Amino acid sequence: MTGFSTNAIHGGRNPHKDQHGALRQPVYDSVAFEHESAEDIYQVFAGRKPRHAYSRITNPTVEEFENRIRLLSGSFAVIAVSSGMAAISNVLLALAGNSTNIITSRNLFGNTLSLMEHTLKPWGLETRFVSMTDPEEISAAIDHRTRAVFLETITNPQLEITDIQAVADISAAHGIPLIVDNTVTTPYLFRSKDFGVNIEVLSSTKYISGGATSVGGLIIDNGNFNWDNSPRLVDWAKKTGAMALTASLRKEVYRNIGSCLAPHHAYLHSLGLETMSLRIEKSCANALAVARFLRLHKKVVAVNYPGLTESANHDIAAKQFNHRFGGILTFDLESRERCFALINSLQLIRRASNVNDNKTLILHPASTIFYEYSSETLAKMNVRQTMIRLSVGIEDVTDIIHDLEVGLAAL
Ligand SMILES: *Cc1c(COP(=O)(O)O)cnc(C)c1O
Repeated sequence: MTGFSTNAIHGGRNPHKDQHGALRQPVYDSVAFEHESAEDIYQVFAGRKPRHAYSRITNPTVEEFENRIRLLSGSFAVIAVSSGMAAISNVLLALAGNSTNIITSRNLFGNTLSLMEHTLKPWGLETRFVSMTDPEEISAAIDHRTRAVFLETITNPQLEITDIQAVADISAAHGIPLIVDNTVTTPYLFRSKDFGVNIEVLSSTKYISGGATSVGGLIIDNGNFNWDNSPRLVDWAKKTGAMALTASLRKEVYRNIGSCLAPHHAYLHSLGLETMSLRIEKSCANALAVARFLRLHKKVVAVNYPGLTESANHDIAAKQFNHRFGGILTFDLESRERCFALINSLQLIRRASNVNDNKTLILHPASTIFYEYSSETLAKMNVRQTMIRLSVGIEDVTDIIHDLEVGLAAL
């Protein structure tokens, strides 16, 4: 069996040889595809002939990206979408509905929390917040109207890490699918199906896009959930069996919402995949070195990085993520004013809200991505005014550390 990096470069390619022998598949920036006859186009629309018809539904460049991800994640089916948020929205809309609930943690990506608490609530979907590290609380929150358990591999910015197999055992015992947001670990660090995860969602905007080139998302079905148990999908399960989720998305939710990935973005993300393992290795190694530097600095009150052996999450992270600990860390200074002063002083590190870019990025979460939340909610989410988030890139680590060192010295 070939390895991850080899597959990322050679795998999942279109079986049809390009007419010019191009090593890279051309980008099919075309909305519609032509067919031989009326009968032909009828067969395509009825799903009996696997051809492309219209790019909101399928597109050859997008499909090539999906095939590569399917190979790399060892999964059953993949749908690429326009953003990470589109991936999460599509899956929740396909599985849940009015008078149902989903179980999750308060430690969530800000827009995911907003989607659940603000956008989907008026449609009758209740979100129940529990501690993902407390199995009894999860079990107690589940009832016959629960449609999914949702968690993130490493929460941002808390960097909380759940024992995912333990949560998967609980959700499986209740016949409920477990959805995991694998954005910051990707299938390179976390093979979700080996830990009992049923559905994986990802923002491919981050590590996969190859350096923050474009926005995109992925829905990955591991093919290990019996969709007869999902009230919204039983009819699809009768017709399509294991394909129920993918079919309901492709032929209904994803198609009707119109959250397709642009072919050009699929091309950029396929290109990004080819160097992803190198970039992740480097950003994880750099993050560990930066965390070790900050831990010893007098002006730094605390450092949170799962790669530090004293971190409460160190052992579970090592086990789940193949001894890598991600590219994101947080650290606390004495005050919000000091955080702002450090951020303002930096010369190399960029002030921006993305993560897992090639560039090292810095941000004060409480005043930016979490600005809309009250101080009570912030406290519940463990987002402090004294906390800075650093997403460590792939520059020379000595330069990243030098920038921080100069900035801290000036405080
Ligand atoms: C960025 C991010 C998202 C949203 O992805 P977009 O591509 O920006 O829509 C969702 N989850 C996590 C963990 C993220 O970091």
